[in-house]
Amino acid sequence: MSATQPVSHSAALFARASEVIPGGVNSPVRAFNAVGGTPRFMVSAKGSWLTDADANRYVDLVSSWGPMILGHAHPEVVEAVREAAVHGLSFGAPTEAEVRLAEAIIDRVEPVQQVRLVNSGTEATMSAIRLARGITGRTVVVKFAGCYHGHVDALLAQAGSGVATLGLPTSPGVTGAQAQDTVVLPYNDLEAVRAVFAERGSEIACVITEAAAGNMGAVAPRPGFNQGLRDLTREYGALLVMDEVMTGFRVSPAGWFGLDGVAGDLYTFGKVMSGGLPAAAFGGPAELMAYLAPAGPVYQAGTLSGNPVAVAAGLTTLRLADQAVYATLDANAARLVGLFGDALSAAGVPHRVQTAGNMFSVFFTESEVVDYDTAKAADTWRFPAFFHALLEAGVYGPPSAFEAWFVSAALDDDAFAVIEKALPDAARAAAAAVAP
Ligand SMILES: *Cc1c(COP(=O)(O)O)cnc(C)c1O
Repeated sequence: MSATQPVSHSAALFARASEVIPGGVNSPVRAFNAVGGTPRFMVSAKGSWLTDADANRYVDLVSSWGPMILGHAHPEVVEAVREAAVHGLSFGAPTEAEVRLAEAIIDRVEPVQQVRLVNSGTEATMSAIRLARGITGRTVVVKFAGCYHGHVDALLAQAGSGVATLGLPTSPGVTGAQAQDTVVLPYNDLEAVRAVFAERGSEIACVITEAAAGNMGAVAPRPGFNQGLRDLTREYGALLVMDEVMTGFRVSPAGWFGLDGVAGDLYTFGKVMSGGLPAAAFGGPAELMAYLAPAGPVYQAGTLSGNPVAVAAGLTTLRLADQAVYATLDANAARLVGLFGDALSAAGVPHRVQTAGNMFSVFFTESEVVDYDTAKAADTWRFPAFFHALLEAGVYGPPSAFEAWFVSAALDDDAFAVIEKALPDAARAAAAAVAP
């Protein structure tokens, strides 16, 4: 690896992009604002490797923010997409493949009896919230600080992911009424949830939570937290919306539900379920989903919903994601958590490598991170040095301290060798970083 990576092609593309796309990117975290430097423009990917516009190669620990559990351009997924494309890109009419994808999801996640396919996780959570309000006739939505549920107006307050990365309290353009109907509580704080139900229980349509938080970095629910949400929502006649867009079909065949067994009322899925193409879903018991048009009165629709090419990628990804793949994901994550922890300990930098299933994050602090406040209290200023040292050495991690790292099952010995070689320098760079 040369001392300094060439980035002239990415830099030129970023300058060109910034003329025609706000901030030069189509999703904020990609712009590297929190870490500085030139966002890498990618040209191809195969297995666990990315290649950028300057022909630099990286081991990918982002996996397109989760979807690519099998690695990039898996031959069978690519073939399924090719086959679907040849038969027509979009019909605007139902297909058998959509039914099979719905069946595949329902087979895996027991509390879900019906799903509606949409095009993004944002659409899934937006629709689930509308459905919850339509079913209950109530308006208030409870969410947790640092949880991200897509860029839905009502759910942007104190959100994770890019909102956290850019340090935005919320977003201009979200009206007071939308924000007023959203109650934001600290994650993992059941007492706060109990208190708000005691005060406003009859107004609360739903509680939405990441089944395990991954958008303020990986922060697993404390034992009993999800069950407590289950009990309180049931007691007060509100719905529990489990957002498994990130965890679904990644942390186990049945997502986080497969790990803790706490059933939500409504579920949202995305990322892995569409294998890297744009598709997502929301679902739940048939009696709740029956409120949705055309069966019921709550409206929801989509020109490209159930798109045959996206469905083919999703179906094939789920078919290939067998027990062996999940065992490999878990083993790869455990190995990386060990390597990261060892390198950071050797460098003497305060850190915690936290996990939520096979998602993990590096927090530069010695205190346990349990919510957004404790995540923000870490030495996030160490992160850019850590990130850039890894990037320079050929390891592509998330360009923000508030994101999870995502393994694929395609990580091979070469990939681990590059990571092992890169980590000591990166850990020393984090240790040497100077507080602002
Ligand atoms: C990614 C994500 C979303 C939004 O999905 P998009 O496809 O980006 O709209 C929603 N919820 C969670 C938990 C996510 O991680």
